[in-house]
Formats: sequence, structure tokens, C-alpha cells
Amino acid sequence: MNQANSSFFKKSLLKRTVALLMVGAMGGALTACGGDGAASSGTSSTLPVSSSPSSLLESSSLPSSQAPQSSAPSSSKASSSQASSSKASSSDEVVATGAGTGIGYKGSDWRLRVPNIENPLVESEIPDVVQIDQPTDGRKHYFDARAIDNLNAMMDDAAAAGLNLFIISSFRTLDYQTNLFERRVKERMAQGYSRAVAENIVAEGTARPGTSDHQLGLAVDFNTIEDGFEKTAEYKWLIKHCAEYGFILRFPADKEDITKVMYEPWHYRFVGVEHAKEIMSRGICLEEYVSEL
Ligand SMILES: [Zn+2]
Repeated sequence: MNQANSSFFKKSLLKRTVALLMVGAMGGALTACGGDGAASSGTSSTLPVSSSPSSLLESSSLPSSQAPQSSAPSSSKASSSQASSSKASSSDEVVATGAGTGIGYKGSDWRLRVPNIENPLVESEIPDVVQIDQPTDGRKHYFDARAIDNLNAMMDDAAAAGLNLFIISSFRTLDYQTNLFERRVKERMAQGYSRAVAENIVAEGTARPGTSDHQLGLAVDFNTIEDGFEKTAEYKWLIKHCAEYGFILRFPADKEDITKVMYEPWHYRFVGVEHAKEIMSRGICLEEYVSEL
């Protein structure tokens, strides 16, 4: 029994240490969103590094000033195939990792679409979006026209419950995601990483183009991309009620190994009421759900 306890303790400690290392490596408590990291008006194709309200969010990306002296940024979460990524790694030997890898879904139900590297989003899948007429960070935000009523109802009811819920990120264009990802990859390559390794490092926090939930127009980020959001009344209300409107917590804390994305208490994804209720009540993630279909 002692041995078992000891083993468990060591495992927990290791996990905690890795998590801390990762947080440190990522420049603070911020993680990137769904792999996206930054909010968008959905129209911008050029990304100012430090201007506008988005500068706050932009800062959550892996800062270029951060020296890659340890393997923490690349090894703590991604598969071990690139755990020992070094500057000298050959791009030929590196297997792509991060958000957008693993389980995908491209079936008949548009609400469950899970893009990944094998099945990235293409232009013809870009939805008709409408501007969100709800509290935001001051910029224009857009959402899939087929699901906007659900988003509005959820936010109206949250407001009626006395909560301050506002949107900081929503629909993103392919151009936006491509530019965002490319810029971060180039920052890493400037530090000496090969292109493939740089992509893997960036992919832990920023979705590869064509693989972001936000490109579907079905995801929103609320209030702040900090883990502290889970302590707020807004978060607690969302977890309790989001499924009633067809939304799920897209990247749960205990599903990082499956989603390949760090815990994001602020990121909610529309999947439809019946799917959302099952996913949230069973405590599974979207990848697990679609893999059962
Ligand atoms: Zn997000």
C-alpha cells in the first residue's frame, strides 16, 4: 500500500511539476485559446503585434524573447515523438503534434465538425456569419448564423442572472489563423528551431490553420484567457447551464491528452442542445463523443 501511495504521489508531483514548468515556459498563467491565442474581429488579416485591445491577448503567445533553453515548451504536453526537440532536430523526423491532431470529425452533422490536420477546414466550409449583438471587448465579433440565436439566448439569460459575460474572441478567418500561426512559427525559427519543431511548439497553444474551432464560427471565448476565470460566477453559471443552449466547455482540464489543447475555462463551443447535454453530463470531451459515432 505504501508503495502504491508513494507511486501515486510521485506521479502527481511529476504532473504538477510538468504543469508548472509549462506555465513558466509559456510566460505566465495564460494559455492560448483553442489554439488560437488571440481575439479577432474576423476581418483582420494583418496582426499588429502591439496595438489595440488584442495586444493583451497577443501577449499570451509564447514570447519571442523567451529562450528555448529547456524542453519544457515542447515536451510537456505534446506526444513524446518530439519531446526531445532540439534546435538540430531534422524536420523529416518530426511528427506533427498539438491542437488539430488526433481525433477529428467530418461527418454529416455540421455542429460536431472537429477539424484536424488530416481533415482541415477548407474555404467551402466557412459558414455564413453574423455580427454578435451582445457585450464584447469593444470590437466586432461574428458567429455562425445557424447558431446565433443559441448564443444570444445564453448571454441574455446570463445577463438576467446578474452576470457580466462578454466576448473577447469568436469567428476567425483562415487568413487570420494562417497569419497568426506563421508569425509565431517564424518567431521560433528565429530562435534556431527547425520549421517542423517550431510548428509543434507553436501548435501547443495556437491551432494550425484550418484546425481551429474559431474558424468554424461556433466558438467563443469569454471575459479573459486566464485560468482564474474558473473562479468566477460567470464560469460557474456557464458550466451549469451552457448545455441548455447547446454549448460545451470545449477543452476540459482532465482531457488535455485527448484534445491536445490546454485547459481553457473561457472557451465554449456550440454543438447543439442534445449533443451538448450528453457531453456535459457525462463529462467527456468532443473528441471522445465523436469517436463514439
Ligand atoms: Zn477560444
